[in-house]
Amino acid sequence: MTNPYRQILIAVDFMPDQARLLERTRQLADANSHLVLLHVVEFLPMELTDEMFLPEDLELEQKMAETAHKRLQQLADQAGLPGTLAVRVETGPTKAEILRVAEEMPADLIVVGSHGRHGISRLLGSTAQGVVHGAPCDVLAVRVGQSP
Ligand code: AMP
Repeated sequence: MTNPYRQILIAVDFMPDQARLLERTRQLADANSHLVLLHVVEFLPMELTDEMFLPEDLELEQKMAETAHKRLQQLADQAGLPGTLAVRVETGPTKAEILRVAEEMPADLIVVGSHGRHGISRLLGSTAQGVVHGAPCDVLAVRVGQSP
């Protein structure tokens, strides 16, 4: 049977257990896969209002994006994934940016953690839930952030 997943988007938040997302992707990907490793910088300065977007805020956001890019590249180098692998950093609301990049690729699979940083968000609607809800393709929610 042909592998239905050629274009795979992997959304990572740099929590230690994010390696599991890459392990799962390795099991699904092959030499023909096009993989994108994405991190979204969701930066909301405390004092931000419509009138106040300070140059320091933009500078900090840019630094966060540069750091994220380096970390993604390290992850990509260590991951040993087949096919081609690109890294991307986007800025904005996490769920919306993941979905936007998925549409743009276009992805046939999005890989996310079932939940990571925001344990409470299980009650409020996690990133994974939001992505599943809005995704234009299949979503693999890899179990992370819990004891085995
Ligand atoms: P959360 O809903 O924040 O607990 O995160 C669940 C999953 O969504 C994580 O394991 C990641 O796969 C993805 N995710 C969360 N935050 C980000 C982010 N800033 N950039 C990319 N992916 C993220």
